[in-house]
Amino acid sequence: MQVPLLDLKAQYQQLQAELQPVLTELFASQMFILGPHLVELEANVASYCQAGFGCAVSSGSDALLLVLMAEGIGPGDEVITTPYTFFATAGVIARVGAKPVFVDIEPDYYNIDASKIEAAVTPATKAIIPVHLYGQSADMDPIMDIARKHNLIVVEDAAQAIGAEYKGHRAGSIGDYGCLSFFPSKNLGAFGDAGMVLANDPEKAKRLAVFRNHGMEPKYHHDFIGGNFRMDALQAAVLNIKLKHLDGWTAARQRNAKDYANLLEKAKGFSLPQEAPFSTRHVRNQFVIRIQDGKRDKVWNALKEAKIGCDVYYPIPLHLQPCFSYLGYAKGDFPVSEQAALETLAIPIYPELTHIQKKYIADTLLAALEA
Ligand SMILES: *Cc1c(COP(=O)(O)O)cnc(C)c1O
Repeated sequence: MQVPLLDLKAQYQQLQAELQPVLTELFASQMFILGPHLVELEANVASYCQAGFGCAVSSGSDALLLVLMAEGIGPGDEVITTPYTFFATAGVIARVGAKPVFVDIEPDYYNIDASKIEAAVTPATKAIIPVHLYGQSADMDPIMDIARKHNLIVVEDAAQAIGAEYKGHRAGSIGDYGCLSFFPSKNLGAFGDAGMVLANDPEKAKRLAVFRNHGMEPKYHHDFIGGNFRMDALQAAVLNIKLKHLDGWTAARQRNAKDYANLLEKAKGFSLPQEAPFSTRHVRNQFVIRIQDGKRDKVWNALKEAKIGCDVYYPIPLHLQPCFSYLGYAKGDFPVSEQAALETLAIPIYPELTHIQKKYIADTLLAALEA
């Protein structure tokens, strides 16, 4: 047997017939930039995420970058985020010339530890970027309280968490902005790169749309320096079709998580992903188990040998990345993130996973943990 970490071909087979006519029509029209597919997608995704507005953009990274540019964040400013995330979350802060300020995660759910944020706030702080890692929401209430108290904007990095809920509220609709990624491996994946910014304030939404297109409004008139952050019409057309299937796929991911919990009940020296009480809908972008006693790499190798796709998200916390050495952080600064980087392992959770595959993965894992 062989199980990939993600099987996008299985999903495509289900959708082929539905996609074909829409794509054929789009190709015939040769209208590839902005247009009705984007407008429809913005309304559909904003509504799905309980947000007022959506701004369809070129990627999740560009969604984050666009927000910081539209907010005028730059040199001299500080932005607080987690070191235990995909690089883009902090990369965009540095790209606008601001300073990433890291705050450690809490140990159970891998999201930013809200109780440690306030100590990192300085007069230069402009924003907080919490990440809803692996499809589970960060603890937003205390984050929003700190932001209001210090007049900071909150940008939710919901790249892994479309449809996730915090106390019944959808990820990306709680802060000033929410950033989604439609990278193919995310729960709602495009046929290439794509992303979206969500916002509730109409003025903010308008500004995003202008910055997405070189800050141009009206045509050939530029009050601001924006960029080309537009989503392709092709991606919007694909995503409108896929969005209809998202709840079904999410339910399948959640079923897989339950099955793993049952199959791995007896495992020792290992923990299943924990669910926070405030996380009322976990969308399971990744299923990340934790292997203690320095055995993670041994187990990882055993799974690789059994041809089971798995990976570590993320092996090097961002404060230890060479490109951020100028920030002056050292090993030991964020011990919870550093420990997680040594002990976590993501195993397949994609919707099309069969029971036989899950059983094979669980059996291999149990044997590796006992060896
Ligand atoms: C995927 C991801 C991004 C970046 O999205 P892209 O569409 O790949 O640019 C940002 N933050 C997090 C947490 C992600 O997982």
